[in-house]
Amino acid sequence: MSLGFRVLPGGAAGPIVKEPGDASFAGWSGRAWRSGRSPARLDGGACPSALDADASVPPAYWGAPSGLACLDTVTSEVWETGYGHHITRLMVLSNLATLLGVSPREVTDWFWAAYTDAYDWVVEPNVLGMGTFALGDLFTTKPYVSGAAYIAKMSDYCGDCAFSPKRDCPITALYWDFLDRNEPRLRDNPRVAMPLRSLERRSNKRRDEDRRVRSWVMETLGAGEVLHPRDRPSEV
Ligand code: SF4
Repeated sequence: MSLGFRVLPGGAAGPIVKEPGDASFAGWSGRAWRSGRSPARLDGGACPSALDADASVPPAYWGAPSGLACLDTVTSEVWETGYGHHITRLMVLSNLATLLGVSPREVTDWFWAAYTDAYDWVVEPNVLGMGTFALGDLFTTKPYVSGAAYIAKMSDYCGDCAFSPKRDCPITALYWDFLDRNEPRLRDNPRVAMPLRSLERRSNKRRDEDRRVRSWVMETLGAGEVLHPRDRPSEV
């Protein structure tokens, strides 16, 4: 067994989960992900969470349609092939999970379950270290998060989406809400200075809308339901 992030620089021991997790699969499906028992000496790996993210992996990651074309396309490809390239892992799956505040350990466990190349040396650094910012700036200089503009620029998912990246994409609201919620933790990070300056110019009404969009997304995806533009909370 490799150490993963069970031991941190300087010899400090990170928090470790007692047993391997199932990324909330049993919680919504009512079925166990694994059959049989794990080897007795296997723990669930390191579970740092620099941003105190503790939400569950939503059913959409397990194949339930979400209404977000980028997420639905990537997850269906992963479940079909057991593979996805580096950018979809970061830009879509890790990004959205981080914006939603999903537990980095749960996100990492999901990658373990879904990908054929899930090895310690791939998953732990790429997801736990880089994708979810679980170790803070110990591993990467800033959270790898973005709104819809970046996804629209780097992919062709948005053309098939019920949402518009310029008008009502919930991922953009999630991005601003992520910055708002984590501003106290990120304010001393020079690499986040520019987005935080943009956040300062965002009105309280828009921030309130961002919060309500996040609650709507969390509730809808948490229930395994589909997001529709008509249900999206808007500015009051
Ligand atoms: S509009 Fe938003 S949710 Fe839809 S594909 Fe583009 S980034 Fe994803």
